[in-house]
Amino acid sequence: MSHLLAGLDIGGSKVLAVAVDITGPDGRARVVESVRLSTGLGPEGVVDTAARALRALAAQLSGDAEARPDDWFSGVGIGIPGLVDAENGKITHAVNLGVGPGGLALADRLGRRLNLPVVVENDVNAAALGAAAHLRLGRVDMAYLSIGTGIAAGIVLDGELRRGPHSAAGEIGHIPVDPTGPLCGCGQRGCLESVASGSAIAARWTSREGSDLPPGQDLFAAAEAGDPTATSLRDEVAGYLAAATRLLALTVDVDLVVLGGGVAEVGEPLRHAVANALEAQATGSEFLRGLDLSARLSVVPRDQPVAAIGAALLARTPPGSSIPEPETVLQPDLTA
Ligand SMILES: [Zn+2]
Repeated sequence: MSHLLAGLDIGGSKVLAVAVDITGPDGRARVVESVRLSTGLGPEGVVDTAARALRALAAQLSGDAEARPDDWFSGVGIGIPGLVDAENGKITHAVNLGVGPGGLALADRLGRRLNLPVVVENDVNAAALGAAAHLRLGRVDMAYLSIGTGIAAGIVLDGELRRGPHSAAGEIGHIPVDPTGPLCGCGQRGCLESVASGSAIAARWTSREGSDLPPGQDLFAAAEAGDPTATSLRDEVAGYLAAATRLLALTVDVDLVVLGGGVAEVGEPLRHAVANALEAQATGSEFLRGLDLSARLSVVPRDQPVAAIGAALLARTPPGSSIPEPETVLQPDLTA
């Protein structure tokens, strides 16, 4: 039995696969190899891409193109968007992957093909576990606020994922925050994700000419450079993200809210803007000031593949059990 675990982060355009070693001298985990492929769509395409990524990982580890994943990994964890039935390893309604209401028994199909145990988790939940592990939070209460195409939170309480009986825990992107806001894909108006996600930013901010940054990062750079339109939009988005942070802290009283997802590639300036907004919102409230929310905010380090790492860790611990306390040593090059 191999001592390596494989973790996959399957997105609408790319699949990132990492090999994680959990048998270091200190018992902590580290990423030892990584592979990135374009995602094939539809149920067949998703299974094929996952299998190809795992074969490529095994080939890189061994130097043998014919290497078998089941010779190299003791288990596989997958983080994937959509409605995930973690207990049965099934996904449905992963619109960006071409998986509809008919669903895909991903764990079963991939497991049979590669002769390996496979666990499947919602990608934001997997990232929450990966972020908790990366920050070495142990059995702390934390929330991971993913700000990407959409907005959702992964909630980890006492070191364990809180999924909820309908897998809807943390789906705060569809909490309406502006009754006059844009119509959301979910049918409501002014949802948090329709005003503060990466897509919401892209709808209102076009990267400046000559900038190769995505709209979210370009917006923050333009605001930093003093552009008044950018500053105003940045502060508006930060205000909504501060409201999301306050919501999470007041609902489950987490020690830490970690900002992640594509928009968090902005890094420290994002944390700073949201912390400022939290402080502004607490100005007139001794109650809020006492909670010191701005000090409980963190941001995932850029290019840290927390969803893939969290997924790999889930392959060691079946759904519902507590997370280990790993440490990533090697940061894979995600620019390829
Ligand atoms: Zn919505």
